[in-house]
Amino acid sequence: MSDATEQVRVPRPPSPEQQVAEYAVLAEISRIISSTLNIDEIYEQFAHQVSLLIPFDRLSISAVDMEAHTVQAVYAVGGEIPGWERGVVHAIVPGGISDILEGERRGILFKTPAEEEEAGQQPARDLGGDFQTRIAVPLIARSVFVGALNIRSLQPYAYDESQLAQAERIGAQIAGTIANSFAYEKLEAAQGELEKTAAELRRSNQELEQFAYVASHDLQEPLRKIASFCNLLESRYADQLDDRASTYLHYIVDGAMRMQALVNDLLLYSRVTTRGQEFAPANMDEILQEAQANLDVAIAECEAQVSCDALPAVFGDGTQLVRLLQNLIGNAIKYRGEAPPQVHLAAAKERDEWVFSVRDNGIGIAPEYAERIFVIFQRLHTREEYGGTGIGLAVCKKIVERHGGRIWVESAEGAGATFRFTLPQVPE
Ligand code: ADP
Repeated sequence: MSDATEQVRVPRPPSPEQQVAEYAVLAEISRIISSTLNIDEIYEQFAHQVSLLIPFDRLSISAVDMEAHTVQAVYAVGGEIPGWERGVVHAIVPGGISDILEGERRGILFKTPAEEEEAGQQPARDLGGDFQTRIAVPLIARSVFVGALNIRSLQPYAYDESQLAQAERIGAQIAGTIANSFAYEKLEAAQGELEKTAAELRRSNQELEQFAYVASHDLQEPLRKIASFCNLLESRYADQLDDRASTYLHYIVDGAMRMQALVNDLLLYSRVTTRGQEFAPANMDEILQEAQANLDVAIAECEAQVSCDALPAVFGDGTQLVRLLQNLIGNAIKYRGEAPPQVHLAAAKERDEWVFSVRDNGIGIAPEYAERIFVIFQRLHTREEYGGTGIGLAVCKKIVERHGGRIWVESAEGAGATFRFTLPQVPE
Protein backbone atom coordinates (compact mmCIF):
# COMPACT_ATOMS: atom_id res chain seq x y z
CA MET A 1 0.00 0.00 0.00
CA SER A 2 1.23 3.50 -0.83
CA ASP A 3 2.48 6.21 1.48
CA ALA A 4 -0.60 8.28 0.82
CA THR A 5 -2.97 5.67 2.15
CA GLU A 6 -0.75 4.84 5.09
CA GLN A 7 -0.31 8.43 6.13
CA VAL A 8 -0.19 9.04 9.85
CA ARG A 9 -3.55 10.50 10.78
CA VAL A 10 -3.10 13.03 13.52
CA PRO A 11 -5.72 15.69 12.85
CA ARG A 12 -5.18 18.96 14.58
CA PRO A 13 -7.82 19.24 17.32
CA PRO A 14 -10.47 21.64 15.98
CA SER A 15 -10.86 24.98 17.67
CA PRO A 16 -14.15 25.64 19.49
CA GLU A 17 -15.18 27.96 16.63
CA GLN A 18 -14.46 25.26 14.06
CA GLN A 19 -16.44 22.77 16.12
CA VAL A 20 -19.42 25.08 16.30
CA ALA A 21 -19.21 25.69 12.54
CA GLU A 22 -19.08 21.96 11.88
CA TYR A 23 -22.05 21.19 14.13
CA ALA A 24 -24.02 23.90 12.37
CA VAL A 25 -23.18 22.38 8.97
CA LEU A 26 -24.01 18.82 10.12
CA ALA A 27 -27.31 20.01 11.57
CA GLU A 28 -28.14 21.88 8.38
CA ILE A 29 -27.33 18.82 6.25
CA SER A 30 -29.69 16.69 8.29
CA ARG A 31 -32.37 19.39 7.97
CA ILE A 32 -31.88 19.43 4.17
CA ILE A 33 -32.16 15.65 3.99
CA SER A 34 -35.50 15.62 5.74
CA SER A 35 -36.86 18.70 3.98
CA THR A 36 -37.05 17.38 0.41
CA LEU A 37 -37.25 14.18 -1.60
CA ASN A 38 -35.59 15.77 -4.59
CA ILE A 39 -32.10 14.28 -4.56
CA ASP A 40 -30.61 16.91 -6.90
CA GLU A 41 -31.78 19.62 -4.54
CA ILE A 42 -30.20 17.72 -1.66
CA TYR A 43 -26.88 17.43 -3.53
CA GLU A 44 -26.85 21.13 -4.31
CA GLN A 45 -27.60 22.30 -0.80
CA PHE A 46 -25.23 19.71 0.60
CA ALA A 47 -22.40 21.01 -1.64
CA HIS A 48 -23.13 24.53 -0.44
CA GLN A 49 -22.90 23.46 3.20
CA VAL A 50 -19.62 21.62 2.57
CA SER A 51 -18.19 24.76 0.94
CA LEU A 52 -18.81 26.67 4.19
CA LEU A 53 -16.53 24.27 6.01
CA ILE A 54 -14.11 23.04 3.34
CA PRO A 55 -13.78 25.53 0.47
CA PHE A 56 -13.37 23.60 -2.80
CA ASP A 57 -12.96 24.09 -6.53
CA ARG A 58 -14.80 20.88 -7.37
CA LEU A 59 -17.07 18.59 -5.38
CA SER A 60 -18.38 15.37 -6.82
CA ILE A 61 -20.41 12.47 -5.54
CA SER A 62 -19.98 9.16 -7.28
CA ALA A 63 -22.14 6.08 -7.06
CA VAL A 64 -20.56 2.67 -7.15
CA ASP A 65 -22.25 -0.56 -8.03
CA MET A 66 -20.02 -3.28 -6.59
CA GLU A 67 -22.06 -6.01 -8.28
CA ALA A 68 -21.66 -4.50 -11.72
CA HIS A 69 -18.19 -3.16 -10.82
CA THR A 70 -19.04 0.30 -12.12
CA VAL A 71 -18.70 3.84 -10.84
CA GLN A 72 -20.20 7.07 -12.12
CA ALA A 73 -20.54 10.66 -10.98
CA VAL A 74 -24.11 11.40 -9.92
CA TYR A 75 -23.36 14.97 -8.96
CA ALA A 76 -20.52 17.38 -9.71
CA VAL A 77 -20.11 21.07 -9.14
CA GLY A 78 -17.15 23.38 -9.89
CA GLY A 79 -14.39 22.76 -12.41
CA GLU A 80 -14.62 19.88 -14.81
CA ILE A 81 -12.61 16.69 -15.14
CA PRO A 82 -13.08 15.53 -18.74
CA GLY A 83 -14.57 12.04 -18.87
CA TRP A 84 -15.96 12.31 -15.35
CA GLU A 85 -19.04 14.28 -16.19
CA ARG A 86 -22.23 13.25 -14.50
CA GLY A 87 -23.65 9.94 -15.73
CA VAL A 88 -20.56 8.62 -17.54
CA VAL A 89 -20.11 5.04 -16.36
CA HIS A 90 -16.60 3.71 -15.67
CA ALA A 91 -15.45 0.22 -14.78
CA ILE A 92 -13.94 -0.08 -11.30
CA VAL A 93 -10.29 -1.00 -11.80
CA PRO A 94 -8.20 -2.91 -9.25
CA GLY A 95 -6.06 -0.43 -7.32
CA GLY A 96 -8.25 2.47 -8.49
CA ILE A 97 -9.68 4.91 -5.96
CA SER A 98 -13.04 3.11 -5.64
CA ASP A 99 -11.25 -0.18 -5.08
CA ILE A 100 -9.01 1.40 -2.40
CA LEU A 101 -11.90 3.17 -0.64
CA GLU A 102 -13.93 0.00 -0.53
CA GLY A 103 -10.98 -1.86 1.04
CA GLU A 104 -9.84 0.90 3.41
CA ARG A 105 -13.29 2.15 4.40
CA ARG A 106 -11.83 5.51 5.43
CA GLY A 107 -11.02 8.76 3.68
CA ILE A 108 -7.82 9.46 1.79
CA LEU A 109 -6.00 12.75 1.36
CA PHE A 110 -3.69 13.51 -1.56
CA LYS A 111 -1.93 16.82 -0.94
CA THR A 112 -0.38 17.00 -4.41
CA PRO A 113 -0.77 15.26 -7.78
CA ALA A 114 2.59 13.62 -7.07
CA GLU A 115 1.14 11.97 -3.96
CA GLU A 116 -1.75 10.77 -6.04
CA GLU A 117 0.61 9.29 -8.60
CA GLU A 118 2.63 7.59 -5.89
CA ALA A 119 -0.55 5.94 -4.67
CA GLY A 120 -1.08 4.55 -8.17
CA GLN A 121 -3.89 6.96 -9.00
CA GLN A 122 -4.34 8.98 -12.14
CA PRO A 123 -4.20 12.66 -11.08
CA ALA A 124 -6.95 14.87 -12.48
CA ARG A 125 -4.44 16.94 -14.40
CA ASP A 126 -3.70 13.92 -16.64
CA LEU A 127 -7.32 14.12 -17.73
CA GLY A 128 -7.21 17.87 -18.27
CA GLY A 129 -8.52 19.05 -14.88
CA ASP A 130 -6.01 21.20 -13.04
CA PHE A 131 -6.71 20.09 -9.46
CA GLN A 132 -3.88 19.71 -6.98
CA THR A 133 -5.32 18.56 -3.64
CA ARG A 134 -7.95 15.85 -3.28
CA ILE A 135 -9.97 14.38 -0.45
CA ALA A 136 -11.78 11.13 -1.27
CA VAL A 137 -14.20 9.79 1.32
CA PRO A 138 -16.12 6.51 1.06
CA LEU A 139 -19.89 6.65 1.48
CA ILE A 140 -20.93 3.68 3.55
CA ALA A 141 -24.55 2.94 4.34
CA ARG A 142 -25.62 -0.05 6.42
CA SER A 143 -22.07 -1.42 6.03
CA VAL A 144 -22.27 -1.28 2.24
CA PHE A 145 -19.85 0.85 0.23
CA VAL A 146 -22.18 2.78 -2.06
CA GLY A 147 -20.12 5.66 -3.38
CA ALA A 148 -17.57 8.36 -2.75
CA LEU A 149 -17.42 12.04 -1.96
CA ASN A 150 -14.56 13.85 -3.71
CA ILE A 151 -13.44 17.32 -2.72
CA ARG A 152 -10.71 19.01 -4.76
CA SER A 153 -8.78 22.23 -4.76
CA LEU A 154 -6.73 23.91 -7.46
CA GLN A 155 -4.09 24.66 -4.78
CA PRO A 156 -1.61 22.06 -3.55
CA TYR A 157 -1.64 21.40 0.23
CA ALA A 158 -5.07 23.01 0.38
CA TYR A 159 -6.34 20.50 2.96
CA ASP A 160 -4.91 18.72 5.95
CA GLU A 161 -5.94 15.77 8.12
CA SER A 162 -8.44 17.80 10.13
CA GLN A 163 -10.40 18.59 6.95
CA LEU A 164 -10.14 14.97 5.90
CA ALA A 165 -11.72 13.99 9.25
CA GLN A 166 -14.44 16.60 8.75
CA ALA A 167 -15.14 15.31 5.24
CA GLU A 168 -15.50 11.81 6.68
CA ARG A 169 -18.07 13.01 9.22
CA ILE A 170 -19.98 14.91 6.55
CA GLY A 171 -19.88 11.88 4.26
CA ALA A 172 -21.26 9.69 7.03
CA GLN A 173 -24.08 12.18 7.52
CA ILE A 174 -25.29 11.97 3.91
CA ALA A 175 -24.36 8.37 2.98
CA GLY A 176 -27.73 6.85 3.99
CA THR A 177 -29.72 9.36 1.98
CA ILE A 178 -27.54 8.87 -1.06
CA ALA A 179 -27.80 5.08 -0.74
CA ASN A 180 -31.59 5.34 -0.54
CA SER A 181 -31.66 7.50 -3.61
CA PHE A 182 -29.49 5.04 -5.55
CA ALA A 183 -31.73 2.18 -4.47
CA TYR A 184 -34.80 4.19 -5.49
CA GLU A 185 -33.30 4.97 -8.89
CA LYS A 186 -32.51 1.30 -9.43
CA LEU A 187 -36.05 0.38 -8.44
CA GLU A 188 -37.48 2.98 -10.81
CA ALA A 189 -35.30 1.74 -13.66
CA ALA A 190 -36.35 -1.86 -12.94
CA GLN A 191 -40.00 -0.81 -12.82
CA GLY A 192 -39.62 1.05 -16.12
CA GLU A 193 -38.12 -2.08 -17.66
CA LEU A 194 -40.97 -4.14 -16.25
CA GLU A 195 -43.58 -1.79 -17.68
CA LYS A 196 -41.89 -1.87 -21.05
CA THR A 197 -41.84 -5.68 -21.02
CA ALA A 198 -45.50 -5.80 -19.97
CA ALA A 199 -46.49 -3.41 -22.77
CA GLU A 200 -44.50 -5.47 -25.26
CA LEU A 201 -46.15 -8.64 -23.98
CA ARG A 202 -49.61 -7.11 -24.31
CA ARG A 203 -48.83 -6.02 -27.84
CA SER A 204 -47.47 -9.40 -28.93
CA ASN A 205 -50.40 -11.15 -27.24
CA GLN A 206 -52.84 -9.00 -29.16
CA GLU A 207 -50.98 -9.71 -32.35
CA LEU A 208 -51.07 -13.42 -31.66
CA GLU A 209 -54.77 -13.33 -30.92
CA GLN A 210 -55.43 -11.40 -34.09
CA PHE A 211 -53.36 -13.95 -35.97
CA ALA A 212 -55.22 -16.90 -34.44
CA TYR A 213 -58.52 -15.27 -35.29
CA VAL A 214 -57.62 -14.46 -38.90
CA ALA A 215 -55.97 -17.83 -39.49
CA SER A 216 -58.84 -19.86 -38.07
CA HIS A 217 -61.47 -17.69 -39.75
CA ASP A 218 -59.83 -17.78 -43.19
CA LEU A 219 -59.02 -21.48 -43.00
CA GLN A 220 -62.66 -22.41 -42.58
CA GLU A 221 -63.68 -21.80 -46.16
CA PRO A 222 -60.98 -23.84 -47.99
CA LEU A 223 -61.46 -26.63 -45.45
CA ARG A 224 -65.17 -26.69 -46.09
CA LYS A 225 -64.41 -26.99 -49.79
CA ILE A 226 -62.03 -29.91 -49.31
CA ALA A 227 -64.48 -31.77 -47.09
CA SER A 228 -67.53 -31.21 -49.29
CA PHE A 229 -65.82 -32.10 -52.58
CA CYS A 230 -64.33 -35.21 -51.03
CA ASN A 231 -67.82 -36.13 -49.87
CA LEU A 232 -69.12 -35.59 -53.39
CA LEU A 233 -66.35 -37.74 -54.81
CA GLU A 234 -67.19 -40.47 -52.31
CA SER A 235 -70.91 -40.48 -53.05
CA ARG A 236 -70.91 -39.91 -56.86
CA TYR A 237 -67.90 -41.97 -57.89
CA ALA A 238 -68.07 -44.77 -55.34
CA ASP A 239 -68.54 -47.42 -58.04
CA GLN A 240 -65.52 -46.21 -60.03
CA LEU A 241 -63.13 -46.25 -57.05
CA ASP A 242 -61.34 -49.37 -55.93
CA ASP A 243 -61.03 -50.24 -52.23
CA ARG A 244 -57.68 -48.53 -51.79
CA ALA A 245 -58.91 -45.27 -53.35
CA SER A 246 -62.01 -45.35 -51.10
CA THR A 247 -59.83 -45.85 -48.02
CA TYR A 248 -57.58 -42.94 -49.01
CA LEU A 249 -60.58 -40.74 -49.63
CA HIS A 250 -61.97 -41.70 -46.26
CA TYR A 251 -58.71 -40.62 -44.60
CA ILE A 252 -58.84 -37.28 -46.42
CA VAL A 253 -62.43 -36.63 -45.28
CA ASP A 254 -61.55 -37.65 -41.72
CA GLY A 255 -58.47 -35.38 -41.71
CA ALA A 256 -60.42 -32.44 -43.13
CA MET A 257 -63.16 -32.87 -40.55
CA ARG A 258 -60.64 -33.02 -37.71
CA MET A 259 -58.97 -29.93 -39.01
CA GLN A 260 -62.35 -28.20 -39.20
CA ALA A 261 -63.00 -29.10 -35.59
CA LEU A 262 -59.58 -27.72 -34.56
CA VAL A 263 -60.05 -24.52 -36.56
CA ASN A 264 -63.53 -24.00 -35.10
CA ASP A 265 -62.13 -24.50 -31.60
CA LEU A 266 -59.30 -22.09 -32.27
CA LEU A 267 -61.81 -19.50 -33.42
CA LEU A 268 -63.87 -20.10 -30.30
CA TYR A 269 -60.74 -19.73 -28.19
CA SER A 270 -59.69 -16.45 -29.79
CA ARG A 271 -63.23 -15.09 -29.47
CA VAL A 272 -63.06 -15.29 -25.67
CA THR A 273 -61.15 -12.01 -25.77
CA THR A 274 -62.21 -10.54 -29.11
CA ARG A 275 -65.95 -11.13 -28.67
CA GLY A 276 -66.30 -10.87 -24.92
CA GLN A 277 -69.24 -8.95 -23.52
CA GLU A 278 -69.26 -6.30 -20.81
CA PHE A 279 -69.32 -7.56 -17.24
CA ALA A 280 -72.54 -7.42 -15.27
CA PRO A 281 -73.84 -9.09 -12.11
CA ALA A 282 -74.53 -12.75 -12.94
CA ASN A 283 -76.29 -15.19 -10.66
CA MET A 284 -74.28 -18.41 -10.68
CA ASP A 285 -77.40 -20.48 -9.84
CA GLU A 286 -78.95 -19.37 -13.11
CA ILE A 287 -75.68 -19.81 -14.98
CA LEU A 288 -75.54 -23.40 -13.72
CA GLN A 289 -79.12 -24.09 -14.81
CA GLU A 290 -78.31 -22.88 -18.29
CA ALA A 291 -75.12 -24.95 -18.48
CA GLN A 292 -77.05 -28.02 -17.29
CA ALA A 293 -79.76 -27.44 -19.88
CA ASN A 294 -77.12 -27.41 -22.60
CA LEU A 295 -75.79 -30.73 -21.31
CA ASP A 296 -79.14 -32.43 -20.65
CA VAL A 297 -78.63 -35.21 -23.21
CA ALA A 298 -75.19 -36.18 -21.85
CA ILE A 299 -76.46 -35.92 -18.26
CA ALA A 300 -79.46 -38.16 -18.98
CA GLU A 301 -77.44 -40.67 -20.99
CA CYS A 302 -75.09 -41.57 -18.19
CA GLU A 303 -77.47 -40.83 -15.32
CA ALA A 304 -75.19 -38.15 -13.95
CA GLN A 305 -76.13 -36.27 -10.80
CA VAL A 306 -75.28 -32.59 -10.65
CA SER A 307 -75.69 -30.97 -7.25
CA CYS A 308 -74.67 -27.67 -5.75
CA ASP A 309 -74.54 -25.60 -2.56
CA ALA A 310 -76.08 -22.14 -2.65
CA LEU A 311 -74.17 -20.24 -5.34
CA PRO A 312 -73.54 -16.49 -5.21
CA ALA A 313 -73.78 -13.78 -7.84
CA VAL A 314 -70.52 -12.73 -9.47
CA PHE A 315 -69.46 -9.93 -11.79
CA GLY A 316 -68.78 -11.21 -15.28
CA ASP A 317 -69.76 -12.14 -18.81
CA GLY A 318 -72.81 -14.45 -18.42
CA THR A 319 -72.40 -16.20 -21.79
CA GLN A 320 -68.80 -17.05 -21.03
CA LEU A 321 -69.61 -18.21 -17.51
CA VAL A 322 -72.18 -20.65 -18.91
CA ARG A 323 -69.46 -22.03 -21.21
CA LEU A 324 -67.05 -22.27 -18.26
CA LEU A 325 -69.44 -24.40 -16.19
CA GLN A 326 -70.55 -26.33 -19.24
CA ASN A 327 -66.97 -27.32 -20.14
CA LEU A 328 -66.13 -28.32 -16.57
CA ILE A 329 -69.32 -30.32 -15.97
CA GLY A 330 -69.06 -31.80 -19.49
CA ASN A 331 -65.55 -33.03 -18.68
CA ALA A 332 -66.65 -34.39 -15.29
CA ILE A 333 -69.19 -36.52 -17.14
CA LYS A 334 -66.91 -37.43 -20.05
CA TYR A 335 -64.04 -38.55 -17.85
CA ARG A 336 -66.24 -40.61 -15.55
CA GLY A 337 -65.21 -43.80 -13.78
CA GLU A 338 -67.20 -47.00 -13.34
CA ALA A 339 -69.86 -45.45 -11.12
CA PRO A 340 -72.46 -43.00 -12.48
CA PRO A 341 -70.97 -39.51 -12.46
CA GLN A 342 -71.60 -37.24 -9.50
CA VAL A 343 -70.70 -33.60 -9.89
CA HIS A 344 -70.91 -31.13 -7.03
CA LEU A 345 -70.49 -27.34 -7.22
CA ALA A 346 -69.70 -25.11 -4.26
CA ALA A 347 -68.45 -21.58 -3.61
CA ALA A 348 -66.61 -19.88 -0.77
CA LYS A 349 -65.70 -16.26 -0.32
CA GLU A 350 -62.01 -15.52 0.11
CA ARG A 351 -61.03 -11.89 0.66
CA ASP A 352 -62.63 -9.95 -2.22
CA GLU A 353 -63.31 -12.85 -4.58
CA TRP A 354 -65.30 -16.08 -4.86
CA VAL A 355 -63.58 -19.44 -5.08
CA PHE A 356 -65.73 -22.01 -6.90
CA SER A 357 -65.17 -25.73 -6.97
CA VAL A 358 -66.47 -28.39 -9.38
CA ARG A 359 -65.84 -31.81 -7.85
CA ASP A 360 -66.34 -35.13 -9.63
CA ASN A 361 -65.90 -38.84 -8.93
CA GLY A 362 -64.27 -39.66 -12.26
CA ILE A 363 -60.94 -41.08 -13.43
CA GLY A 364 -58.91 -38.22 -11.98
CA ILE A 365 -55.67 -36.72 -13.27
CA ALA A 366 -52.11 -37.50 -12.21
CA PRO A 367 -50.67 -34.39 -10.48
CA GLU A 368 -47.82 -34.07 -13.02
CA TYR A 369 -50.41 -33.16 -15.69
CA ALA A 370 -52.17 -30.57 -13.55
CA GLU A 371 -50.78 -27.63 -15.54
CA ARG A 372 -50.54 -29.20 -18.97
CA ILE A 373 -54.24 -29.91 -19.31
CA PHE A 374 -54.97 -26.16 -19.46
CA VAL A 375 -52.75 -25.67 -22.51
CA ILE A 376 -54.57 -25.46 -25.83
CA PHE A 377 -54.78 -28.77 -27.77
CA GLN A 378 -53.07 -30.70 -24.97
CA ARG A 379 -54.81 -33.99 -24.21
CA LEU A 380 -53.99 -36.96 -22.03
CA HIS A 381 -55.91 -39.50 -24.09
CA THR A 382 -56.12 -40.73 -27.67
CA ARG A 383 -59.12 -39.89 -29.83
CA GLU A 384 -60.09 -43.55 -29.68
CA GLU A 385 -60.28 -43.48 -25.86
CA TYR A 386 -62.12 -40.16 -25.56
CA GLY A 387 -63.19 -37.79 -28.32
CA GLY A 388 -62.21 -34.11 -28.17
CA THR A 389 -59.67 -31.60 -29.36
CA GLY A 390 -58.12 -30.45 -26.09
CA ILE A 391 -59.60 -26.97 -26.19
CA GLY A 392 -62.15 -27.14 -23.34
CA LEU A 393 -59.89 -26.33 -20.40
CA ALA A 394 -57.85 -23.80 -22.40
CA VAL A 395 -61.09 -21.91 -23.02
CA CYS A 396 -61.99 -22.21 -19.31
CA LYS A 397 -58.60 -20.74 -18.37
CA LYS A 398 -58.96 -17.89 -20.83
CA ILE A 399 -62.46 -17.08 -19.58
CA VAL A 400 -61.38 -17.13 -15.93
CA GLU A 401 -58.30 -15.01 -16.66
CA ARG A 402 -60.37 -12.50 -18.61
CA HIS A 403 -62.30 -12.13 -15.33
CA GLY A 404 -59.05 -11.55 -13.43
CA GLY A 405 -59.19 -14.99 -11.79
CA ARG A 406 -57.16 -18.21 -11.61
CA ILE A 407 -58.08 -21.82 -12.33
CA TRP A 408 -56.40 -25.00 -11.14
CA VAL A 409 -57.11 -28.64 -10.48
CA GLU A 410 -56.64 -30.81 -7.41
CA SER A 411 -56.66 -34.48 -8.21
CA ALA A 412 -54.96 -37.85 -8.19
CA GLU A 413 -55.28 -40.65 -10.70
CA GLY A 414 -58.43 -42.67 -10.06
CA ALA A 415 -59.57 -40.39 -7.24
CA GLY A 416 -61.84 -37.91 -9.00
CA ALA A 417 -60.92 -34.32 -9.75
CA THR A 418 -61.78 -30.98 -8.19
CA PHE A 419 -61.43 -27.97 -10.47
CA ARG A 420 -61.28 -24.64 -8.64
CA PHE A 421 -61.49 -21.15 -10.08
CA THR A 422 -61.89 -17.64 -8.75
CA LEU A 423 -64.27 -14.94 -9.97
CA PRO A 424 -64.78 -11.34 -8.88
CA GLN A 425 -67.62 -10.46 -6.54
CA VAL A 426 -70.25 -7.94 -7.60
CA PRO A 427 -68.89 -4.45 -6.86
CA GLU A 428 -70.82 -2.52 -4.24
P1 ADP B 1 -60.57 -32.56 -24.23
O1 ADP B 1 -61.62 -32.98 -23.27
O2 ADP B 1 -61.08 -32.18 -25.57
O3 ADP B 1 -59.40 -33.49 -24.30
P2 ADP B 1 -59.96 -30.45 -22.32
O4 ADP B 1 -59.11 -29.25 -22.51
O5 ADP B 1 -61.35 -30.24 -21.86
O6 ADP B 1 -59.94 -31.19 -23.70
O7 ADP B 1 -59.23 -31.40 -21.31
C1 ADP B 1 -57.83 -31.66 -21.44
C2 ADP B 1 -57.50 -33.00 -20.76
O8 ADP B 1 -57.68 -32.87 -19.36
C3 ADP B 1 -58.38 -34.11 -21.17
O9 ADP B 1 -57.85 -34.76 -22.31
C4 ADP B 1 -58.41 -35.02 -19.96
O10 ADP B 1 -57.34 -35.91 -20.00
C5 ADP B 1 -58.16 -34.10 -18.79
N1 ADP B 1 -59.41 -33.81 -18.03
C6 ADP B 1 -60.17 -32.71 -18.15
N2 ADP B 1 -61.19 -32.74 -17.27
C7 ADP B 1 -61.05 -33.87 -16.54
C8 ADP B 1 -61.77 -34.48 -15.48
N3 ADP B 1 -62.86 -33.91 -14.95
N4 ADP B 1 -61.30 -35.66 -15.00
C9 ADP B 1 -60.21 -36.22 -15.52
N5 ADP B 1 -59.49 -35.72 -16.53
C10 ADP B 1 -59.89 -34.55 -17.04
